[in-house]
Amino acid sequence: MNRNIAVDGPAGAGKSTVAKEVAKRLGLVYVDTGAMYRAMAIYFLEQGLSPEDQEGITRACRDAEVSIAYENGVQQVYLGGKNVTGRIREEAVGNMASRSSVYPAVRAKMTQLQQALAERTPVIMDGRDIGTVVLPQAALKIYLTASAEERARRRFRELAEKGEACELADIERDIRERDRRDMNRETAPLRQAEDAVLVDATEMDIEQVVGRILELYRERVPEATQGQAGRKGE
Ligand code: C5P
Repeated sequence: MNRNIAVDGPAGAGKSTVAKEVAKRLGLVYVDTGAMYRAMAIYFLEQGLSPEDQEGITRACRDAEVSIAYENGVQQVYLGGKNVTGRIREEAVGNMASRSSVYPAVRAKMTQLQQALAERTPVIMDGRDIGTVVLPQAALKIYLTASAEERARRRFRELAEKGEACELADIERDIRERDRRDMNRETAPLRQAEDAVLVDATEMDIEQVVGRILELYRERVPEATQGQAGRKGE
């Protein structure tokens, strides 16, 4: 039975928070594909490559070894056998990931790895091209979005809570720039799959989004949810 869920959408829409919670309630493995692009980015940075150097990055793809594993249910990402999970959220890494993910060689490598993971176990996978390219047969596809202003405000609050100095206007500019790159690249651009359900979370909280996805899953994959957590009222 195909139980996979694909969650796509722009940066900062809340995909990973929501997908982690849905994974827990439905007993699926959560796969954060952005973390894989970020691990690749660490490799390119370590090799001293510039994000404009398509040839160098394409060559480096051959040697980069990215894999993921789970510790206490939490995804860990490895680069050449070394756990790099602690570094993937660095600003320079996110920037390199956004720029290098436009290249077909990077995407081909990541897609292959992600499809192999979904072959082994039922997953909820989040990213930009999951419903369109990686798991076109997913049982449920969600396109999760929110306005750029709201996504920037959420990110601003997150950083402020961590005590990191930042300007709301800079964050919003960065978010719009990442959207532009994700949506306009030639290979696997971010777009809503024809059979994906649009969820606009601009005015929804996490629990409402999770509830909506569980409801859709029960409708689309009733046989997978019978007798499981995630039933109405639980
Ligand atoms: O989702 P996250 O921000 O961690 O992803 C890092 C970068 O990887 C994004 O800026 C996006 O350009 C890229 N990405 C992608 N396809 C995916 C997941 C992430 O191009 N499936």
